[in-house]
Amino acid sequence: MQRRVPFFDYPAVYHRYASGFESALADVGSRGAFIMQRDLQEFESRLAEYVGAKHAIGVANATDGLQMAMMADGLPPGAEVIICSHTMIATAASIHFAGGTPVPVDAGADHLIDPNAVREAVSDRTRAICPTQLNGRTCDMDALQEIADEHGLRIYEDAAQALGSKFRDRAAGTFGVAGCISFYPAKLLGCLGDGGAVVTNDTGLFERLLMLRDHGRGEDGDVHCWGFNSRLDSLQAAFLNVQFDDYAHVISHRRELAATYWELLGGCPELVLPPAPDSDSRHFDVFQNFEIEAEHRDELQVCLADQGVGTLVQWSGKPVHGFSELGFCQALPRTDKLFKRLLMLPLNMSVSVEDAQYVSDCILGFYKGR
Ligand SMILES: *Cc1c(COP(=O)(O)O)cnc(C)c1O
Repeated sequence: MQRRVPFFDYPAVYHRYASGFESALADVGSRGAFIMQRDLQEFESRLAEYVGAKHAIGVANATDGLQMAMMADGLPPGAEVIICSHTMIATAASIHFAGGTPVPVDAGADHLIDPNAVREAVSDRTRAICPTQLNGRTCDMDALQEIADEHGLRIYEDAAQALGSKFRDRAAGTFGVAGCISFYPAKLLGCLGDGGAVVTNDTGLFERLLMLRDHGRGEDGDVHCWGFNSRLDSLQAAFLNVQFDDYAHVISHRRELAATYWELLGGCPELVLPPAPDSDSRHFDVFQNFEIEAEHRDELQVCLADQGVGTLVQWSGKPVHGFSELGFCQALPRTDKLFKRLLMLPLNMSVSVEDAQYVSDCILGFYKGR
């Protein structure tokens, strides 16, 4: 029997917690508590505690957060920051607007930044590494820290996709100077619009970020530096508080779906799956995405669509170094090859185990029929 398994169901973001959201709207609205009110402070302290960081600061979106973190840390003009080419253009844009130069390098077999490629890309202008904790998985932070220590580099984390992900029991976002997290609706913890946060253990950086997000204003109301308007709305923070109560369940459901895909597709020779939930004791993966490598990717995608299954090629199929109009000219044939094979299967709170079984059956049927 044909099912319909959309890649992502935006209305479901609302419907899942509708009554909680409506109470939050009534509460925040009737208090007139729209900007920088207690809902925001409550969310920030919950977030900091959850990731085990000293500070969390709500901002308008993760891209702004990453940019402001680098600015608050004094990234020198023109400094090179090494990133993975398999990331959202936002990672590169935040470096660009912080005054630096993003330098994309290859992704490794796990689709995350390849530490060997990072090592090769270090130049005398390199100032930092900005790994993306992609698809809900944290990079090998030991290897990256070793390179950073060797060359005196800073680490900023793009943990937009990785709230709750861990490497050796430490949460994504807390390894380097600072990390950004996104609450875009399709993210693991998604609000009803744009939202983001920065987490950091550096109190000085935190205090500069507080001013940067609010026109450079300090607690005394005076302006101490040039700043942005990049605050997280108290209403969005209230919506996030509603969902945070259920977040452990969100992660366990996602890991269950990943395990289901593994059980059914793990033996399929035409596919390479992301590492299974408990295959490496150093990693706790929260599966923001289930990104596979597939032979005959484009035909598979069409075949799945015909059977009601939505899939997505991340970043519309283009790695960062592919954006030549932005001036990138790196040659990364390994990543180019990888990008011809990548496909994301539906994995989110609207997808049931039965849906994942159906998707898997459709995929096995596609390869069998060839
Ligand atoms: C979503 C995302 C961002 C941007 O987050 P916003 O909150 O939309 O600014 C940055 N990097 C990665 C890897 C993302 O997935």
